[in-house]
Amino acid sequence: MFTDKESFKQAYLMKLIEGEGITTEEATSWDKFVALVMLLKEKMSYYRAVNKNSISQGKQIYYFSMEFLIGKLLHNYLVNFKIEDLVREALLELDINLDDLLEQEADPGLGNGGLGRLAACFLDSMAFLGIDGHGNGIRYKYGLFEQKIVSGNQVEVADNWLKNGYPWETRKSDKAVIVKYRGTVRTEFKDGQAIFYHENYEPVLAVPYDVPIMSYDNPRYINNLRLWSAETICSELDLACFNRGDFNQATSFRSEVEAISYILYPDDSSRAGRELRLKQEYFFVAAGLGTIVRSYKKKNGLNSLHDFSRRVSVHINDTHPVLCIPELMRILIDEEGMGWDEAWNITVNTMSFTNHTIMPEAMEKWSIDMVQNLLPRIYMIIEEIDRRFKEDLKARFMDNDQVKQNTHIFKDGYIWMANLAIVGSSSVNGVAQLHTTILKNEVFKDYYRVFGYKFNNKTNGVNHRRFLLAANPKLSHLITEAIGPNWKEDAGELKKLHVLKNDQSFLEQLANVKFENKCRLAEKAKLKYGLILDPSSIFDIQVKRIHAYKRQLLNVLKIMHLYNKCINEPDSLSCPQTFIFGGKAAPGYHYAKTVIKLINVLSKKIEQDPKVKGKLKIVFLENFNVSQGELIYPAADISEQISTASKEASGTGNMKFMMNGALTLGTLDGANVEIKEAVGEENIFIFGLTAEQVLDYSRSGGYKPWDEYHANPDIRTCVDQLNSDFFDNMGEEFRTLYDSLMIYNDEFYILKDFPSYLKMHERLQALYHTPKDWNKISLLNIANSGIFSSDRTIREYADWIWKIRYRTVNCISSN
Ligand SMILES: *Cc1c(COP(=O)(O)O)cnc(C)c1O
Repeated sequence: MFTDKESFKQAYLMKLIEGEGITTEEATSWDKFVALVMLLKEKMSYYRAVNKNSISQGKQIYYFSMEFLIGKLLHNYLVNFKIEDLVREALLELDINLDDLLEQEADPGLGNGGLGRLAACFLDSMAFLGIDGHGNGIRYKYGLFEQKIVSGNQVEVADNWLKNGYPWETRKSDKAVIVKYRGTVRTEFKDGQAIFYHENYEPVLAVPYDVPIMSYDNPRYINNLRLWSAETICSELDLACFNRGDFNQATSFRSEVEAISYILYPDDSSRAGRELRLKQEYFFVAAGLGTIVRSYKKKNGLNSLHDFSRRVSVHINDTHPVLCIPELMRILIDEEGMGWDEAWNITVNTMSFTNHTIMPEAMEKWSIDMVQNLLPRIYMIIEEIDRRFKEDLKARFMDNDQVKQNTHIFKDGYIWMANLAIVGSSSVNGVAQLHTTILKNEVFKDYYRVFGYKFNNKTNGVNHRRFLLAANPKLSHLITEAIGPNWKEDAGELKKLHVLKNDQSFLEQLANVKFENKCRLAEKAKLKYGLILDPSSIFDIQVKRIHAYKRQLLNVLKIMHLYNKCINEPDSLSCPQTFIFGGKAAPGYHYAKTVIKLINVLSKKIEQDPKVKGKLKIVFLENFNVSQGELIYPAADISEQISTASKEASGTGNMKFMMNGALTLGTLDGANVEIKEAVGEENIFIFGLTAEQVLDYSRSGGYKPWDEYHANPDIRTCVDQLNSDFFDNMGEEFRTLYDSLMIYNDEFYILKDFPSYLKMHERLQALYHTPKDWNKISLLNIANSGIFSSDRTIREYADWIWKIRYRTVNCISSN
């Protein structure tokens, strides 16, 4: 890589002039950004080529995910190449401000939230650990929508992230494959063997776009994120239409095909039962697997497929790519002439599956008719998988009807995708201890009896180099000065910070860094949204998708309570507090959109009330995404992780906050349980029902929100305010929220947890007045956050699921 400014400048100017055909004077910021990206991309291609032989010829891992929320790449890659300072100074000598160029990059919104971000963190950690691990997904032309707040309401605007182009990607037309939909299956018998021909199908061209994935200080391993785009094949059908002058039909056919990679469904829990989505799922599965098998045969020889599962792992991220299972069966049987039993063995051993949710409405299922019609051959294979599985069960659980009933792949006219995934993979993992326990004991209890050996836990992690090293340079610098730089490669080294826990001067520096990060966020908020934030107030932050189970409403009720208190006892609030919210609601999710409205209406009410002004403030930061997260996580004093216990599978925002020194106010849910174990119970602020209690209530009833309402006047006041003229003329609008609590029995136990939540929040307020204690806890959170690096998670996947080797820490430091 570049070791001095002069050689960088020379290469950069060459790129700008020769590559883009322009001089620095003519170039726009966009041109200058593109030139820098092209330069890095070229370097990465070079590294990839020269290291081809040194890269382990071991197992290839393919991570299939409907979502990859990768965030911006340029800044991270400069950090990973360790050339940020050099490039910044060199560009300055050319009168170019690096920050202007960084601003040019779009944040690809190819994901909804945590699940897509996890996939992106995993890509980084796989590259870091020297694993040949590649992503496979869809290149949505429009990312998730862009969120605007207009008069307090969420408004969705198309996110046209590709409008200027995306210089990180490379289109690989020569690697395009055909994906086949609909049509008929003809069966022929040859020597007693059935042979299947898929005929009269509708072909769609899948064209791959590759994005290089490079991790910290490890240019020897450049991996690939392959995103597929749908295009029409210039077919006779097309041409015939045009020749007849039937342009409408020709273009409508075209748009029908291209629609496959148009948008990501902006819905992260319940599944739109739409055929287009099923088409999308098969699209990236068929294109991805087709390419994998083809390149495998090219590399290992035509008769090598018997060893396929020893050299390839396909990981299924949530149920969206579960069609990988019947599709690999189809390829092995129909295209490669393999028998069912061997094909099944290979398929099961190749596939591993991660479950991400226990919410019943989020369990993906497809109507039988739709699958039969759209994917006739795949449907036949699923039927056969089901038939054989049932036969197996009969032999093993002859007299146990419960097991037989609760392990159906087909039920009520639907195909249940999680069930197919469990039957067809060798490993099924949950994403935090508690979540995995619930999978084993509740959701997939009967599957656990059949396939106990498949179930395992892999607690999520986050890329600490993106969310700490790159996002929080001031804290990173402070940490490196204190314990040296090795934590960047081994997050476990953060433990060394423990020795500083009583070092007052260090703790003060830590607090200063936090203050500066709050100032950084305040400046950006002012610049971008015209919002005024007071960095000397407590920053109490909840950023994540808006969802009933995540309970933003509980947080709002708390703020309403504080407001009431402030009016009634003007001296009761000791310290100014800023409550920051961010997150998108699914466009069709009325409840969630009403919560956004409530936050904004309350914000305005507080703003206009001279009695609370300066003491309380609420802001809703519009369009929460990865780039915004990188500003927000480092600026938090309090991290709100308040989901109804048992409902949040893991959470990863909780980890990002923790490693940036925020104190967690949360329930014992998801990975909060492990955060508590790691940091110690005196350094985390836990309240509310346990998962066990929540599950008990939902099994046997007995929860009555009216009891909470009558027992606690604070609750009563706040709840009544939702349903009154407290918010001028908004009673009608917030009635949905009131009803969810009082009429529909408060499904998420908001009122039940309200008193303990208030109490714990008060304790945090008090603690804030003893900075010495607060800062120590903050430090202990950072020091104990190492296990939440996705490097640790990926090492566990490698050891236990994919069974592959990776770079070890020793080998890293000797590199
Ligand atoms: C980390 C992250 C999430 C996940 O947040 P949770 O608090 O775990 O729900 C969602 N969106 C973005 C942009 C993220 O970076």
